Amino acid sequence: TKELRVAEDYPRSRAASKTRSKSRAPNELSIDDFEVGETLGEGSYSTVLKATLRKSGRMFAIKVLDKSHLVRKNKSSTVKVERIALLRLGRQHPGLVSLYWTFQDNYSLYFVIDLATNGEMQSLISRMGSLSTRCSQYYAAQIVDALEYMHSKGVIHRDLKPENLLLDVDFRLKITDFGTAKVLNADVETERFVGTAQYVAPELVVANESSESSDLWALGCIVYQMLSGRFAFSGLSEYLTLQKVKQVDYTFPEGFDENAKDLVQKLLIREPTQRLGAGEPNSSLGMPALRLHPFFKGVDWATLWSDPAPPLE
Ligand code: ATP
Repeated sequence: TKELRVAEDYPRSRAASKTRSKSRAPNELSIDDFEVGETLGEGSYSTVLKATLRKSGRMFAIKVLDKSHLVRKNKSSTVKVERIALLRLGRQHPGLVSLYWTFQDNYSLYFVIDLATNGEMQSLISRMGSLSTRCSQYYAAQIVDALEYMHSKGVIHRDLKPENLLLDVDFRLKITDFGTAKVLNADVETERFVGTAQYVAPELVVANESSESSDLWALGCIVYQMLSGRFAFSGLSEYLTLQKVKQVDYTFPEGFDENAKDLVQKLLIREPTQRLGAGEPNSSLGMPALRLHPFFKGVDWATLWSDPAPPLE
């Protein structure tokens, strides 16, 4: 495996960067090593392209970031955090987007990451209206499994939502977008960040405090949304949504699965330490207890990432 490299010094004069790119390490990749295909999507600071590594034929997604745009918008630290989080997470867990290489040229930074051919969970929910209990159970279990690993590595995502849950070729889930993550004990400044209103935990709204448990709150919101097709917390404005979050003001639609209801009620709790999954491993609120919740009955955690995804319905 090649060493991961990324620029820390974004803006450079053309002359300087030409000299620098000529002196690229012999084993460092460049965009010319890839056959670039379709554009998969655009973010505020990035374009994501489908690309094939010429020498192996393997397909990847490449996130291309415009250096001058990043500097102009003061977003260099987001890119740093994203890289540090992805490096910390390694390529160890199938539920997290893996980073393979980073490189740069005069104008752009490139992140070569796992390709998720089936797009965002958000589009799936919109397309289907809502997901079946079986599908919601499957994706909730994959989030739990990925979260436990992520948290064990000292990474708190802070912006979990269906737009950041990608689906690979086999419709298995991959969590992405670590630019606003908190990486514990890392040599990088954690930016103040209050996630997305519909998924943000009360402690972030009230005191700008986040912990692993804030990701569990988001899980509760996601389970609610997968099953019902609508947000747990939604007001006519962001302000009103956040008011509802602070008051934990939400209701279940009629016919909502009873086990799922119980799970959501144990995740959408104001006090972060009281959420299911937030306690010590051997306590009644530990991650093992979360995995044992009746909503997950029938899930084989050992084969979660090799079993086929349930049919979409
Ligand atoms: P913003 O930066 O505005 O929050 P974003 O986080 O969605 O937007 P990107 O992560 O750059 O921005 O993603 C842009 C688009 O590309 C998204 O719509 C996403 O669906 C798609 N995309 C991102 N990563 C991948 C991937 N690994 N495989 C396939 N598609 C991807």
